[in-house]
Amino acid sequence: MIIAIRAFIVLCWSAALASALPATAQQAERPSTILISIDGMRPDYLDRGLTPNLNALKAKGVAAAMRPSFPTKTFPNHYTIVTGMRPDRSGIVGNSMIDPRRPGQIFSMGDSKQALDPFWWNESEPVWITAEKAGVRSATMFWPGSEVASGDAAAGPTLRPRDWMRFDQNISNEQRVNTVLDWMRRPADIRPQLITMYFDTVDTAGHRFGPGRTPELDAAIADVDARIGELVAGLAAMGREANIVITADHGMAQTAEDRIIQLDDLIDSASYIAVEMGPYGAIEPVTGTDTRVYDALLKPHDHMQCYRKEDLPARLHYGKNPRVAAIICLAAPGWTILSGPPRYPVTGGAHGYDNADPDMLALFMAFGPSIKPVADLPVFDNVDVYPLVARLAGFDPLPSDGNAKTLAGIVGR
Ligand code: AMP
Ligand code: ZN
Ligand code: ZN
Repeated sequence: MIIAIRAFIVLCWSAALASALPATAQQAERPSTILISIDGMRPDYLDRGLTPNLNALKAKGVAAAMRPSFPTKTFPNHYTIVTGMRPDRSGIVGNSMIDPRRPGQIFSMGDSKQALDPFWWNESEPVWITAEKAGVRSATMFWPGSEVASGDAAAGPTLRPRDWMRFDQNISNEQRVNTVLDWMRRPADIRPQLITMYFDTVDTAGHRFGPGRTPELDAAIADVDARIGELVAGLAAMGREANIVITADHGMAQTAEDRIIQLDDLIDSASYIAVEMGPYGAIEPVTGTDTRVYDALLKPHDHMQCYRKEDLPARLHYGKNPRVAAIICLAAPGWTILSGPPRYPVTGGAHGYDNADPDMLALFMAFGPSIKPVADLPVFDNVDVYPLVARLAGFDPLPSDGNAKTLAGIVGR
């Protein structure tokens, strides 16, 4: 009887202890989750014989072609991957955007005053914030949106990943890997359980030289492969397990100077704001221009189709957000929409096309102790990555556009 009472007390005591332990300590046994983005990495880049590390990891886990969301640009798709919301709902509707509540202002990635203003990012909650709220320690080795405080400072406390960095292209890929390895080397109570990491060099080479076989793009692909090899080897050397999810935000298509649609030939540029130009155009008529801009753009054109935002094809899931410009024009594959002279050489590579364009497909890979090898994963939408990441990192995802079932079959063991 005494033994039974004592056993009962021990049982209650250990149960109480477990619930008193901080969530991070309870999480300590779980392998960390590392979410990587290789900007502009097409799935077919793995077939060039340049990626021995990624190809070996593919054999141990999963590799697939993933459909990006429209518009197939960097900021919208990175935020979609970490929120599970398509750009229309995540609030990051373009690399550049306007908002009727901020007349006269334009958000653009290069304008840090705008790009770091929480106003633009607060329409949805990124995975590192939901993680922190769930007691899962997060760290970001770059990711669009990760440098921005979440929440409204005037209304209450704001949150950030526990470790984060201001984006700086001069931090080499090697330094990025070393930073993540340093984080992973930490003792369990201060080790991040969810890490993001970002490589921009493949996208940069793809823009300059196009997606075809060039020494420059091939070198960029091979370098990122080598860095990921070092990351995996570094983790193994310190005996740390991690589930690694590799994504890309979009693909890359060949563009050329003889495939330009010049808006100056259709309408005077003073009558609209060119919010975004290139593979797609986001065009906001200036007040007082009546129907002139609509009349000029909505009629049929060679190599370009323009829509009022409310009339965009439903499959694009785009146009309800007040931040989407009134007219959206889609260029035919490989064509470039310009307003006036180009600001960068047009011949090379670009993305931003219809997300059904096969050139816009993005790489997805996953491997690690919780991932089952699956040979043939069909193409899926990038919104479905978010519930996978939350599950691997051990907390409930917020409601989103993503479907947890899509990638449920790759989790196991
Ligand atoms: P894109 O113009 O759509 O090709 O965007 C790719 C570029 O986005 C990269 O070359 C980076 O310079 C830039 N970029 C990526 N992450 C960030 C960030 N967190 N803050 C500012 N710029 C970024
Ligand atoms: Zn990108
Ligand atoms: Zn790019």
